[in-house]
Amino acid sequence: MRATVFHAPGDVRIETVPDPRIEAPTDAVVRVTYACICGSDLWFYRGINANWERGWRTGHEFMGVVEAVGAEVTTVKAGDVVLAPFSFSCGACEFCRKGVHTSCVNGGYWGGDEHDGGQGEAVRVPRADGTLVVVPESVSNDTALLRAAVPLTDVMSTGHHAAVSAGVRRGGTVAVVGDGAVGLCGVLAAARLGAERIFALGHHDDRLQIAKAFGATDLVTARGDEAIAAVLDATDGGAEAVLECVGAQSSMDLAIGIARPGGIVGYVGVPAQVEAVDVRRMFSNNIALHGGVAPARAYIPELLADVAAGRLDPSPVLDMTVGLDGVPEGYAAMDGRTATKVLVSLTS
Ligand SMILES: [Zn+2]
Ligand SMILES: [Zn+2]
Repeated sequence: MRATVFHAPGDVRIETVPDPRIEAPTDAVVRVTYACICGSDLWFYRGINANWERGWRTGHEFMGVVEAVGAEVTTVKAGDVVLAPFSFSCGACEFCRKGVHTSCVNGGYWGGDEHDGGQGEAVRVPRADGTLVVVPESVSNDTALLRAAVPLTDVMSTGHHAAVSAGVRRGGTVAVVGDGAVGLCGVLAAARLGAERIFALGHHDDRLQIAKAFGATDLVTARGDEAIAAVLDATDGGAEAVLECVGAQSSMDLAIGIARPGGIVGYVGVPAQVEAVDVRRMFSNNIALHGGVAPARAYIPELLADVAAGRLDPSPVLDMTVGLDGVPEGYAAMDGRTATKVLVSLTS
């Protein structure tokens, strides 16, 4: 089969790799129909995550059709259309049962040197029963609903995790730091949970317009202290729920800076560049920091039900579509910020 392979920072290529096959009785093989390129893929693409080696496979967001299952797989069968969260998990260990599937003792992540990546024609899925979620026919027969479902593999589930972690409540005031795909999905998640006032903080006009369409009531384009002052002023002391959706030092400082006393910062941005958090401000104002890597598998069934019902559509974050051969071009577009998030369509 053909799949995307990392060569060096700025250099990913489509190459022929071994076909996946059932290796363990708990495996499934999924033929990929849609995949995405993620903002977090840019960490290795830009060489910021320097652990990546030539030959590693890329992509952790995909859905597709089950082609084969191992003898012990009971919840999916050949022909099912399925969504995969960005990590695989057994569904049965202590942490899966607590809803922290990303800490599964039998789990792991797609791609790298050990597993197939999502940005390819097919994927061997370990622990298929605990990992895959079957997509109802009403969604799989409708291209628009399928496009709405793909972001549940990561960014929509991650935005929802930020909102849940920050304690977003009906009628509450929320601030979302970051206007990337996760931040935009955070706005959508906060609106879905009933927040009344939603501040979106970012620097890209086109993306902030999506935030507005997703339910943001106030757009803030200022940076640093100016942005903090703007939110504190407009909320008379800060937002009770803040979603940190970037993972940079400046965004973490901003998130803690605009949290209301007694409030919660839900952080989901991969903290690749966070050196420190302002514990003193958190201490003196009883501000909590809650969140981490999103256990997407825990949220997909609930979010997928809303997609199927036509109540949830994060697909506007997908502003560029390529085929498998266009994946390198998609990375370059996201790196150059001419695309927010790239959909890879393998259907033809
Ligand atoms: Zn991702
Ligand atoms: Zn587990």
